[in-house]
Amino acid sequence: MEITEFPAGVLKEVGEPVEQFDAELEKLVADMFETMYAAEGVGLAAPQVGLSLRLFVMDCEGIKLVVANPGILSVEGEQEGEEGCLSVGKIHAPLRRPLRARLRAQDARGEWFEREAEGLAARCFLHETDHCDGLLFLDHLSPLRRDMVKRRFQKFKKWR
Ligand SMILES: [Zn+2]
Repeated sequence: MEITEFPAGVLKEVGEPVEQFDAELEKLVADMFETMYAAEGVGLAAPQVGLSLRLFVMDCEGIKLVVANPGILSVEGEQEGEEGCLSVGKIHAPLRRPLRARLRAQDARGEWFEREAEGLAARCFLHETDHCDGLLFLDHLSPLRRDMVKRRFQKFKKWR
């Protein structure tokens, strides 16, 4: 699948809930995993492949999940670190996030589950859930830093 890049409108939409847990969804998440691995990402949300759905896949620090209809139940602590996004040419910027996050969601069969993560995997929970809400990591940056990332991304698009 092709990765949708900033500033595509679909990245700003709040995704529709996933309601059908069927073979079509299985195929979609398989394609999303393949696309994510090919791009060397650790997470990929449906809006990033042009679909306004509350759905993401991730494989980060040993946590491999299909996540439908995610909600963040709680967060704790704080971490400093660099964050990037496949839809923004993997251009990184420092972004403070909670250290731990607890996620509630449905798996590919529609079963509800809860999962807690720390560090990079918690960052991934938050980043990908943001995508389902129409938010990018850029939206958490200061205006100055956001402009810097946008400029670098424009340059990157021109030269690749
Ligand atoms: Zn992203």
